[in-house]
Amino acid sequence: MWRNAGLRDRDLSSLSPENIWRWIRVFRESVRVLGNIENDDYRPLRKQRYVACGSRWSSGGLVTYADGSKRVVSYSCSETACTRCYDADKARTAHRYLNKILALSDSQQIDRFWSFVVTLPEEVEAMIPYGSTTRKKFMNELCKWVRKLFGLRAKDGLFCYANIHPVGDSDLMRDRFHVHIGLLPFAVRRLKEQIEFIQCDVEGLIDTETALSKLEQLLWRVFPLTQRGKAQFKAQYIPLREKSTVPRLAHRLKYDLRGFEKDVELAPLFFDESSRMVVLKSGEEGYGIYTVDQIADRWRWIRSQRDLRPYGLLKQWNQYADILGIEFEEDPEPEIEEEQPIIIKRVYGRQWNPKKRQVRWTNEKRAYWKQGGTEIKDFKWGRKGSEGFWKPRANAPSTGAHET
Ligand SMILES: [Zn+2]
Repeated sequence: MWRNAGLRDRDLSSLSPENIWRWIRVFRESVRVLGNIENDDYRPLRKQRYVACGSRWSSGGLVTYADGSKRVVSYSCSETACTRCYDADKARTAHRYLNKILALSDSQQIDRFWSFVVTLPEEVEAMIPYGSTTRKKFMNELCKWVRKLFGLRAKDGLFCYANIHPVGDSDLMRDRFHVHIGLLPFAVRRLKEQIEFIQCDVEGLIDTETALSKLEQLLWRVFPLTQRGKAQFKAQYIPLREKSTVPRLAHRLKYDLRGFEKDVELAPLFFDESSRMVVLKSGEEGYGIYTVDQIADRWRWIRSQRDLRPYGLLKQWNQYADILGIEFEEDPEPEIEEEQPIIIKRVYGRQWNPKKRQVRWTNEKRAYWKQGGTEIKDFKWGRKGSEGFWKPRANAPSTGAHET
């Protein structure tokens, strides 16, 4: 690849904190044009907001609450095409799931959270575009297969999500459809007017060999495959009654549900601004050269194919939370007295860390007064309050059969 004469003489930039903004600016501009993010009558500052969002210098506010406490917040653009905002939106979903999983496992004494990864044979990859009936059929069959692993019937509402990732973890440009499935072994069964909750964990571990052979039968049924095999299935669990539970589970959910911001933005090893080319880890030779527009288009494609679906009790949460002994606590933002404009500076990129003696990612935010430019110190980031959370109710009824 380095024999490519055009590239050899280029001034290639690595993603150091000095250079990374050049790449991010050019990449985001390409995304902006592709996504047609323009000002209009309803959003006269739309373009400016997008361009500033998460950039080296952006704007924010210093919020003073009525009780005198203060918080520093950075403003964002909320565009779906914006890598940062898209990813932040997915991280919020992960946080909501984490909250529900912890509340339910507490209230019902569920001991394990199961995490599966199903990787599809390459032959299937062109056969399940987003929104297709094949994808719908495949996801339905996949969920039936998961329920069977836990001895449930086809219609039992297992607490479960499935998220399709369209690319592999190590190669951004390679289609590699795989499904991340997370679940609590706990289900609801409705028989006429009777509601029953079922603890359905397996003894020990999942028998992955049997599971895989059933999975392959499933693929055979759904897709017109010409050769058998090559699907992969991995299963692990996170124990829910240990100290390490919350960080491990939070990490798992964030990873499974992620919006691929970092996968895309941090993928380039080198960038050449004048030719608008990037070098990625990719392909047979280990590296590939792509244009900025190709990466921007790839980002659009990943978003269009990524697919998160909640099932069973997770999907019908509001309907059953009450009889499961879980209640919602509101946590509104306190009254704001004033919000002063500030400037936010980010330091971002690969940087030599003298303490660790390693090149590591740096990602820091600092806040400065808009006037005078002095740094604001000793403040917490982010607004107070939250969208609220679920928690086990004190004196909750024990589950069993319920009449509705
Ligand atoms: Zn944004």
